[in-house]
Amino acid sequence: MRIIDHVISGHSGGGSGRSHDVFDPNSGEVQARVNLGTSADLDAAVAAAQKVQPGWAATNPQRRARVMFKFKQLLEENMQELAELLASEHGKVVEDAKGDVQRGLEVIEFACGIPQALKGEYTQGAGPGIDVYSMRQPLGIGAGITPFNFPAMIPMWMFGMAIACGNAFILKPSERDPSVPVRLAELFLEAGAPEGLLQVVHGDKEMVDAILDHPAISAVSFVGSSDIAHYVYNRGVAAGKRIQAMGGAKNHGIIMPDADLDQAVSDLIGAAYGSAGERCMALPVVVPVGEDTAERLREKLLPAIDKLRPGISSDPEAQYGPVVTAEHRTRVENWIQKGVDEGAELVVDGRGFTLQGHEKGFFMGPSLFDHVTPDMESYREEIFGPVLQIVRAASFEEALELPSKHQYGNGVAIFTRNGHAAREFASRVNVGMVGINVPIPVPVSYHSFGGWKRSAFGDQNQYGMEGLRFWTKVKTVTQRWPDGSATGENAFVIPTMG
Ligand code: NAD
Repeated sequence: MRIIDHVISGHSGGGSGRSHDVFDPNSGEVQARVNLGTSADLDAAVAAAQKVQPGWAATNPQRRARVMFKFKQLLEENMQELAELLASEHGKVVEDAKGDVQRGLEVIEFACGIPQALKGEYTQGAGPGIDVYSMRQPLGIGAGITPFNFPAMIPMWMFGMAIACGNAFILKPSERDPSVPVRLAELFLEAGAPEGLLQVVHGDKEMVDAILDHPAISAVSFVGSSDIAHYVYNRGVAAGKRIQAMGGAKNHGIIMPDADLDQAVSDLIGAAYGSAGERCMALPVVVPVGEDTAERLREKLLPAIDKLRPGISSDPEAQYGPVVTAEHRTRVENWIQKGVDEGAELVVDGRGFTLQGHEKGFFMGPSLFDHVTPDMESYREEIFGPVLQIVRAASFEEALELPSKHQYGNGVAIFTRNGHAAREFASRVNVGMVGINVPIPVPVSYHSFGGWKRSAFGDQNQYGMEGLRFWTKVKTVTQRWPDGSATGENAFVIPTMG
């Protein structure tokens, strides 16, 4: 059995003696075991990080950027291998896995521009003979705790920015698909990063708590489900750390009566069922405005759903693969049953689907609910599977209210040909990321990613300039080079700039 171990500089193994099974969701078989670490493993990683970080912070930004450039090149050269490895543990199809690596790589590209982004601010002559400048300095050691659903992209959102800013970084990836994060750390070393700059510690709650409590870790970035995000935020802040904690989602796609319905349906199918619905920016809720729109939408959705082909990750014809574990499949199936029990109409039932030749894989067919209402628990909670729910709205205002009042506020999309309605929607909706005729509005790497309400705890978004602000602290210097003529008359008064 393959054992997946930590990447800790100068430290081999140790661990708690506990391990976690890593499945191949396509076959349903355990393909590896990941060692779950302890606070002693974390201490070893912190000690290595402490050794290397001051030198890295003192390395000029252009040299730091060179490591990022080289790392980007290695990601490109190893794209196929990374995508196949990722797909074999996560279950998403290989093309989609390449997108996972690519979106992380784009943050590394942004990080290549760190000399420009970190330049700081300067005011000459802020007072008589006085200049003021501010600089952004690294925090020291940062940590990231990441979910299973983007095992390449999300770690790179975090460590790309943290390390470019001069920090050392310790990554605690999901124990369900830990191999790609380990490969990323190996490639980062190959790119010329010093040992100890990017390390990987595996684990579960025990390791997460050790990270949150460790006095030498200054900041923690978390992405995962909302209850745990909230817990991480509270515990981390109580320990005096800077925390950003992204949580779950329930994104709505609003279909206005004037929308290009064929385009919207094609977008919806990809956004609802792609990656088996295991995306925090998926569109699991569709809101047609008006009964006529709802009927036309349903008519077009049904044949499109009928054509969907789940398959194994390496099948180029498959549109989506299995869900991540059998346990997760049961959870999604329970939500489907809950929807039925609550009175929603289950138009297409994806339960009980088996893929011929891969009967033990964790596959699910697509499901579609109609007549879902806001009071239903299956609407209020995240399902995170290949399930689309139609919630009918009578008017634009009602459609706007649904995502705005939902507990989650990650992403939302509106499909319309009416620029005024789109503009109004974007400006008023109570959600952090908005798509206008764009189903999955994940911002490009030079903007920033972050939801609202229970989709994110903390103030700064991921990557872009927000990421840079999260991973640095500002120091402001007020300087004067006196010529000896000052009298110091008002020495007891708060200094002003005259
Ligand atoms: P998860 O919350 O189960 O796990 C996330 C991380 O927390 C993992 O590293 C895991 O080891 C750790 N963890 C698990 N249980 C813990 C506990 N009790 N105490 C401390 N740490 C614990 O999430 P997941 O199932 O891996 O990922 C799916 C979730 O992540 C979904 O809710 C999805 O919406 C969310 N997500 C959000 C975003 C975003 O940016 N908002 C992006 C991707 C995924």
